[in-house]
Amino acid sequence: MATGAFRLQFDNAEEVELVRESVAFFDELHERVDVGLFHQGYLFVARTDEGAQIQANLAAAQRQWGLTDVELLGGAEARQRFPYLAPDIVNARFRQGDGWLEPRRLALELARASGARFDTGVTATGFILEGGRVRGVTTTAGPVRADWVVIAAGPLSGPLAKLADLDLPLATVRRHKLIVPDVPQVPAGAPMTIEFETGAHWRPAGGGAHALWTAPLPAEPPLDEVPTSSAFAFGLLDPRSDHALARIAPFWKDVWRSARLQWWLQAGQYTYTPDRRPLLGPTPIPGLAVNTGYSGHGIMGSIGGSRRAIDAITGTLRAEDNPFRPDRPMTARTFDIL
Ligand SMILES: Cc1cc2nc3c(=O)[nH]c(=O)nc-3n(C[C@H](O)[C@H](O)[C@H](O)COP(=O)(O)OP(=O)(O)OC[C@H]3O[C@@H](n4cnc5c(N)ncnc54)[C@H](O)[C@@H]3O)c2cc1C
Repeated sequence: MATGAFRLQFDNAEEVELVRESVAFFDELHERVDVGLFHQGYLFVARTDEGAQIQANLAAAQRQWGLTDVELLGGAEARQRFPYLAPDIVNARFRQGDGWLEPRRLALELARASGARFDTGVTATGFILEGGRVRGVTTTAGPVRADWVVIAAGPLSGPLAKLADLDLPLATVRRHKLIVPDVPQVPAGAPMTIEFETGAHWRPAGGGAHALWTAPLPAEPPLDEVPTSSAFAFGLLDPRSDHALARIAPFWKDVWRSARLQWWLQAGQYTYTPDRRPLLGPTPIPGLAVNTGYSGHGIMGSIGGSRRAIDAITGTLRAEDNPFRPDRPMTARTFDIL
């Protein structure tokens, strides 16, 4: 489902560090096993002066957090480097080290390398509580005892936690991926290209592209099967839309007019926390921890996040030093692409 993209261009130092750890791991893994990794970069493009100013401030902050390879390009310079960009863009923020990989290959390789046993098709149905401490789970294949239980159930983490009388600050929101398999206009070497003002974005994939947009949608209950809506495809492809891909890359107008245009859609859910940062580590219930709430960044956050969750459980990472501890005070954030 996920498009497998990763970036260090965040708006806070903690998430930069978390994803940096993941990407270092991906790079090292990819030297041994092909996980479909490409460092083709993330290119954020602003169309307004206000957006361009925020981009400039962000690039300056990112440099202070050690991201010395973020480039801030004026409109003309950006068009020279990326000739498919529209004539009216104001500036662009680019980092070559960002990119994407194949999430399925990553997951299978992590599973293989772990040496752990995986029982697929088994559902956790509740928690074994003894003396006020979680001591394991009940499952459709019988009880499993453990010193620690970690809830890492993606969109279903909230309902699972409720079975232990734990309320997690999670909201699930439908997110689509548009797959356009055949787009000769997409340069194969293009970066992930994002309109800064709307967040609509695309990247090359096969002979075409994956395109996404985090629409302002209401939360809905967690779903196992998430239905798709063709309105999502029209919203990105129809040049008249207020978040059309053609706004910053006009070749998408030709794609829209082409008789060859075909696409398909997939949908899943983002599991959001109010501050859009994951919940990592022990909960107030002894023996119960969480590794969830990645808010749309769970591939790029997977390695750094899981390592922090484990360190928080073992005590290597103290609660006061863990910016992702589940009981932290949260300031709401709404913008997804920062
Ligand atoms: C359209 C879309 C595009 C995305 N693109 C990106 C991207 O480019 N980069 C990125 O970093 N992230 C992306 N994401 C987000 C990413 O997919 C998630 O953050 C990530 O998959 C979360 O991983 P997870 O292991 O926490 O949860 P999941 O991947 O949801 O895995 C949870 C697992 O728990 C299982 N489970 C649930 N309940 C139970 C139970 N009771 N018993 C047993 N098992 C249970 C589920 O079956 C599932 O296998 C995207 C998401 C969507 C929807």
